[in-house]
Amino acid sequence: MVSELRSPGARGHCVVIGGGLAGLSAACALVDQGVQVTLLEKRPFLGGRAYSFTDAETGQEVDNGQHVYLGCCTAYTGFLQQLGVFDRTTLQRRLRIPVVDRKGKVGLFSAAPFLPAPLHLIPSFLKFPHLGLRDKVRAGLAMLSIHRMDKEKHREALEGQTFRDWLKQHGQSDRSCDVLWNLITLPILNDSVSDVSAYMGIMAFQDGLLHGRNSANIGYSRVGLTELISDAAKDYITQHGGQVLLGNAATKLIITHSNVTGVDTGLEVLPADTVVSAVPWDVLPELLSPELAADRYFAPANKLEWSPIVGIHVWYDRPVMEEDFLAALDSPLQWVFNKSRIQGLPGPGQYLCVSMSGAWEHAPMAKEALRAMVLPELEQVFPEAATATVERFIVVKQLAATFRCTPGAQAHRLPQQTPVGNLVLAGDWTQTGWPATMESAVRSGRLAATEVVRALDAALSEPASS
Ligand SMILES: Cc1cc2nc3c(=O)[nH]c(=O)nc-3n(C[C@H](O)[C@H](O)[C@H](O)COP(=O)(O)OP(=O)(O)OC[C@H]3O[C@@H](n4cnc5c(N)ncnc54)[C@H](O)[C@@H]3O)c2cc1C
Repeated sequence: MVSELRSPGARGHCVVIGGGLAGLSAACALVDQGVQVTLLEKRPFLGGRAYSFTDAETGQEVDNGQHVYLGCCTAYTGFLQQLGVFDRTTLQRRLRIPVVDRKGKVGLFSAAPFLPAPLHLIPSFLKFPHLGLRDKVRAGLAMLSIHRMDKEKHREALEGQTFRDWLKQHGQSDRSCDVLWNLITLPILNDSVSDVSAYMGIMAFQDGLLHGRNSANIGYSRVGLTELISDAAKDYITQHGGQVLLGNAATKLIITHSNVTGVDTGLEVLPADTVVSAVPWDVLPELLSPELAADRYFAPANKLEWSPIVGIHVWYDRPVMEEDFLAALDSPLQWVFNKSRIQGLPGPGQYLCVSMSGAWEHAPMAKEALRAMVLPELEQVFPEAATATVERFIVVKQLAATFRCTPGAQAHRLPQQTPVGNLVLAGDWTQTGWPATMESAVRSGRLAATEVVRALDAALSEPASS
């Protein structure tokens, strides 16, 4: 099938549905390979779940939630480089995480210079003040097992149990689970060790922390997330011959004889040689017929679940925090980011963002209750906050932030290929092997692009009547 939209020399036409990182990375990879792309995004801006908005009162860009990437997120950083915006982010040269408890005791989780992974973590771990020697020895042995483990060999067993169960079997105390293992698990997997599968917990430590000296280096944008991505991605696609239709939702896929022939937007039908669906799993069924949505291929995805993140944004009239960011132990704050420093905002005030992952307890709380809980906690960690004035306090709740990596959930993620020959899936929730992250979204987009090119080339090599 050859669409009327194909321009001379183009490999074929692909409609990409969804302008999150998955759809954008697919679209950018496709225009690079001579595919004519139309990208449909229902909102008036690109970036999907990684977006920012301008706060009317302060005039500052506020992210929908603090987004962090790690040194091991090579697809995401490659995508930022492709768009020419990587230098608008900061990536640590060496891992350094200040960890503060409620009594003000500060520990440092950091990479030692010159030592290879995973030995690079040992010096700071030995000095880490928040765990006793016995817990440290046991944690070290568990990390060693994780580092050496071929997790694919034990996939079924690991996917069938929680990470906490696995940690307990490997001698970890409740304190160690809360202080050490959740420090990494909560922000990466957006759920606690009690909820995630051992398979994904181990993946987070293997790939995120232990894999290489720089794999856990922390990176973040120095500008609002929409400012980072939206215009740069739109320009990239249009300058390479594609088109981006903002404020345009796909309402239905037109499927005949197990092939998508077009995408209905409610206003028109866009013809397509191939389609990439880069929408979340709970939107996909709306685009399919009820029969297809219930098909045994697509139906498992309906079993995926969302996990919430709560972001709390506080503007003080003066500086209260010195570090760029820190993790707070035994505190609902979890992680605090100094947005004034990160974004280079002028004084005299200071803007902080508190990021609460796996926020099951805090997501239902009213703004005033969150304020009554968070401000004293901030004063506990930053004593200067006690004498500072809070000039603005806003809460951003993202109830559908990331898909859950609970035991068994990996089986509900779908691969890029579908039974509808020229319909390809992308999205952080597809089978990338990664948890719900920007890295997973970009990887999925690239996998989808490879699949589209394969399908288009196969169609081009068929006889003209096909
Ligand atoms: C608060 C928060 C904090 C996070 N923190 C981190 C972090 O620190 N590090 C990290 O790596 N990840 C983080 N994530 C996860 C990360 O944002 C996601 O994994 C990633 O952005 C998902 O991208 P995606 O393209 O797969 O999906 P989405 O971003 O959901 O994109 C889907 C797009 O499809 C569009 N769409 C939906 N229906 C239609 C339709 N019918 N027609 C057209 N368009 C449609 C949507 O508007 C959206 O733009 C966080 C997420 C949240 C919410």
